[in-house]
Amino acid sequence: MDITTCCIHGSRKTYDRTGAISVPIFQSATFAHPGVGESTGFDYSRLQNPTREYLEQTLCTLDEGVDALAFSTGMAAVTALMELFSPGDHIIAGEDLYGGSHRLFDHISTKNGLAFSYADTSDIASVLPLITEHTRAVFIETPSNPMMRVTDIAAAAAICQMHHLLLIVDNTFLTPYLQKPLLLGADVVVYSGTKYLAGHNDTLAGFLVVKTPELAERLRFIYKTVGSCLAPFDSWLTIRGIKTLAVRLDRQQQTAMKLVTWLEQQPHIDRVYFAGLPNHPQRDIMLRQSRGFGAMFSFQVDCAETAHKILESFKIVQYAESLGGVESLITYPMLQTHADVPMEERERKGINDRLLRFSVGLEDAQDLIDDLSQALA
Ligand SMILES: *Cc1c(COP(=O)(O)O)cnc(C)c1O
Repeated sequence: MDITTCCIHGSRKTYDRTGAISVPIFQSATFAHPGVGESTGFDYSRLQNPTREYLEQTLCTLDEGVDALAFSTGMAAVTALMELFSPGDHIIAGEDLYGGSHRLFDHISTKNGLAFSYADTSDIASVLPLITEHTRAVFIETPSNPMMRVTDIAAAAAICQMHHLLLIVDNTFLTPYLQKPLLLGADVVVYSGTKYLAGHNDTLAGFLVVKTPELAERLRFIYKTVGSCLAPFDSWLTIRGIKTLAVRLDRQQQTAMKLVTWLEQQPHIDRVYFAGLPNHPQRDIMLRQSRGFGAMFSFQVDCAETAHKILESFKIVQYAESLGGVESLITYPMLQTHADVPMEERERKGINDRLLRFSVGLEDAQDLIDDLSQALA
């Protein structure tokens, strides 16, 4: 069955006898037991909830894993994932990482005894000299945020297997519709479901999808213990969002290609970062491991004044954090998502006062070009 169909029909498990086409929202904290020592399969909503289970099974099917766990946010998912590790453990992470993950690692996980090294994983050999006897995992994002660098997932998996490390891939930007890291050798896939999966800028959600029953068991134990599970209504919103994932992404990436092609020709634009452009250094890797280039791009303008002017002149596009929804959003990574990354490090990576990041929504492509055009004028 094509993934487009899977998005719509989900896990197909039914929880009621009415024939409801839309899975019901089981707004119940707890569930009655039929007898002593018996369970309907649902005991308490922190552990299991039918609406959430439907969503988890849908994601598990889309990513072809053995289990998927739905969290209240993407960061809740990454935080729970860190509970797999113990003080003294070392993790190698991509240096161009979502700012919130960077903040978690450097300010909370480090306090709890974990150690982190950062590498430009678009050159995967650069992780090799960082591996020590304490290294337990490699954590990557591809394409990366906001510089759109691409990491070869299969090559990363080969290194991880050789050194007995877990490969964790944050697949938020592409979703299973465009890229399936587990099939390329990853052990755990992370999502901010807030973005493309839910897709409407109306709910927060997060996921972990895993490859082995052993990992699933360890993470389920952490999950029921730490309690950062997704609420039934937010689960339902995410189920509804996923139904249109394929059509949304098809259109969004089509529009993204039109916008970057146009943008590259404009004055005041120094550089455009998008994995689908012919001059992108890892375009071939992307063609090999993904079904599309996604709908996120970044661009560097000539000076900070131009950047500020653009942010304040848009009529349709909105200046707001987040991405992946039906509304086009533009962010200023330096002040928003990456504000907690030290300045020198930010500058070295190209996250400067001239860099803007664009999340392409579902508006008409020409309307978006017109809006960019008047903002740049
Ligand atoms: C937004 C985001 C997160 C965090 O997700 P929340 O749902 O906001 O907690 C993690 N990784 C990436 C790539 C993101 O874009």
